[in-house]
Amino acid sequence: MELVRRAVVRGYRAIGLTDHAGPGNLEGVIERLKADCELVRREWGILAVPGVELTHLPPGVIPELARRAKALGALVVVHGETPVEPVIPGTNRAAVSCPDVDILGHPGLLTEEEAALAAANGVFLEVTARKGHCLANGHVVRVARRAGARLLVNSDTHDPADLLTPEFARTVARGAGLDAEELRAVLEENPRVLLARLGYRPD
Ligand SMILES: [Zn+2]
Repeated sequence: MELVRRAVVRGYRAIGLTDHAGPGNLEGVIERLKADCELVRREWGILAVPGVELTHLPPGVIPELARRAKALGALVVVHGETPVEPVIPGTNRAAVSCPDVDILGHPGLLTEEEAALAAANGVFLEVTARKGHCLANGHVVRVARRAGARLLVNSDTHDPADLLTPEFARTVARGAGLDAEELRAVLEENPRVLLARLGYRPD
């Protein structure tokens, strides 16, 4: 609730809430978030979307967990192969091969083939503002551009102070190598495409 309140004050009109999840807490995380999301939507007018980030899992279980999360109407993020953590190799491939996955977070040094799978399955690739994870942003933009995969700029907020301002989101996007036209698509169009994919009708 504090995070959403701070997002409202910062001018956000929509926010995805995606706590780390595995087989044990998946349903519980989503159900608990739903109540808060309904409340803030009604009271504060912000579209808060309940979700999960499937984090540090054996890649083989990702499709089944993504399916379970999707069946509950959740936004499904997979914690990708960031350069700064020992995420299990094969995680990126499992995520971009799965149409139930919405976003591959911090994909690190994903291959061109994986970016092509992301494009084919409608999986968004993340340009991240998070320290460490952001080291591969330039690479992610380069392979996504070539493959025609859609990108998003995300804060990967773990603390309210991490929430992006519009100015800092632009800085992150430009720093990752996006040009002016791509900036517009990534910061304005793609979040709306994602919300539409999730069944929401943003203004
Ligand atoms: Zn993550």
